[in-house]
Amino acid sequence: MRPTAQGITDGSGLPRYRPQQTEQPAPCEAACASGSEIRSWIGHVAQRDRTGLDAPEAYAKAWRTLTDANPFPSVLGRICPHPCEFGCNRSENDGALAINALERFLGDWAIDQGLGLDMLDSEPKAETMGVIGAGPSGLSFAYQMARRGYAVTVYESRPMAGGMLRYGVPDYRLPPDVLTAEIDRIRELGVEIRTGTAIGADISFEEVRCAHDVLYLGIGAQMPRLLGIPGENGPGVFTGTEYLSHVNEGHPVDIGTRVIVVGGGNTAIDAARVARRAGAEVVIVYRRTRTEMPAIPAEVDEALDEGIGLELLTGPIEIIRTEGKVTGLVTQRMRLTEPGPDGRRRPEPEPGAIFEMATDTVIAAVSQQPDWSALDGIQVQDGWITTSDLGLVDGAMWAGGDVRGLDIAGSAITHGRRAAEQVHAKLRGLTAPDTDRSTPIGAERVNFEFKETTTPVHAPHLPVEVALQNPTVEPTATITEAEFLAEVDRCFSCGLCMGCQQCWMYCTSMSFTKVADPKPGSYYTLSLDACEECGKCIEVCPCGYLEVAPP
Ligand SMILES: Cc1cc2nc3c(=O)[nH]c(=O)nc-3n(C[C@H](O)[C@H](O)[C@H](O)COP(=O)(O)OP(=O)(O)OC[C@H]3O[C@@H](n4cnc5c(N)ncnc54)[C@H](O)[C@@H]3O)c2cc1C
Repeated sequence: MRPTAQGITDGSGLPRYRPQQTEQPAPCEAACASGSEIRSWIGHVAQRDRTGLDAPEAYAKAWRTLTDANPFPSVLGRICPHPCEFGCNRSENDGALAINALERFLGDWAIDQGLGLDMLDSEPKAETMGVIGAGPSGLSFAYQMARRGYAVTVYESRPMAGGMLRYGVPDYRLPPDVLTAEIDRIRELGVEIRTGTAIGADISFEEVRCAHDVLYLGIGAQMPRLLGIPGENGPGVFTGTEYLSHVNEGHPVDIGTRVIVVGGGNTAIDAARVARRAGAEVVIVYRRTRTEMPAIPAEVDEALDEGIGLELLTGPIEIIRTEGKVTGLVTQRMRLTEPGPDGRRRPEPEPGAIFEMATDTVIAAVSQQPDWSALDGIQVQDGWITTSDLGLVDGAMWAGGDVRGLDIAGSAITHGRRAAEQVHAKLRGLTAPDTDRSTPIGAERVNFEFKETTTPVHAPHLPVEVALQNPTVEPTATITEAEFLAEVDRCFSCGLCMGCQQCWMYCTSMSFTKVADPKPGSYYTLSLDACEECGKCIEVCPCGYLEVAPP
């Protein structure tokens, strides 16, 4: 329930509610890893009738707003763990908006339409940008610099651009042609991507440093960590990223019929699901409980639905080989300690609880680290680069993405964008945009009664047996246009006017006047000359955009 607005008491003791229009941060945007203006892009579509746009015009405007921060909407619309939806105020009422599904629809629509990305400033700049690594972070930096008029060269060691999105995330979760389409648009802005060019091998690090005014390191974390147990070296044992990369590149991988995957992160779950699609019986072995698993929870649920086993509180201690061939994994039952000073419960061995699990293959997906062997002179701490909050390494070198710590694609994109904003501001003597995000508006300020109670759209999902028989086919479809429009209508535009007319209709003193050129957030001007301070407008505003003015 939304509480009645707090009034201010005048001399007569009667409460008075003098309204003011105040834009408040939206919780979806505050939670978004890629920094996308979600309320704004949804608003272009949801409010298209009020702003005089037809549907395609509204979609294009929404897509342009979205891609201002994130040039990969079709990609993130598929793989982002969508923290925005956990932030959505509607989640406390009848279910969060399916923002991820909306993003995917819009991204796919733009690919179908052949839309190109926007330049911000086409005036060519003298300074050149070098980027090492064509993952989402390096490409985000490249995109933001190219659209500001800089010449950008991206150096990528692999045969194709995309980083872990291409060589790690399985094709059934992210079809390669979707990734390629969104990368090609960045190329169309003039970004040169030199694939098959490893810095430190094909070109020296020093040479690249000297060739550019600014260097961005987006090399990710390519070096897998090993288990460090006997029997690990030899056939039948893969690291998670190695196995996924082989499969994504189309190489045949012999994994036999029984596979154990060690680890609890996204790489472990992806490796397990890909092995399952190859027909193997798969068990994931993890040292902690499900609560501590860093993998996206929905992915773990889907893995379980696909018949993948989960052996929790279990750690590997030795790989057994018979005549060189893997036949088993010796494991140790673990228990969690009481929380330490950092609040974490650590796994420790349960004395005597050792058992063997039969297997043909072990996939070790326990973590990755950046590989610094080819880049001389970079200062690292425990294998990770240290930077300022915005990614500055030194005067002309920036770094972002997984090279600063394992994270998700949305964060890698944000690192690239923020660094680009700083570099451009520094070079042109401008002020970089503020990166502070103040507290978003809460659910108590939203008038949920304004809209019908509805459940969020659920994209259809292939039956498990069909998904397993079609290892590269996406199990989840893009929502339809009708579903997209219905879902967009569920948005309350928390903290910003959506032009619903409630205030204007209920105001008896005619204090609200429609603006001539309405746009999301700007539909009415407010004059307090005749305002009776009854507070009705504040009470009926669904968005929490109207609040009681301070005395
Ligand atoms: C299996 C797996 C599944 C994942 N699933 C998800 C998911 O569902 N959702 C999500 O949001 N995130 C997911 N992630 C995380 C996400 O992929 C990463 O956070 C993101 O790709 C990091 O981007 P990046 O640009 O920093 O690095 P990367 O994507 O790793 O790209 C770095 C690039 O630098 C290149 N490079 C490295 N060294 C050199 C050199 N010396 N010279 C030239 N090029 C070099 C590499 O070849 C690579 O292409 C997953 C990661 C993995 C491994």
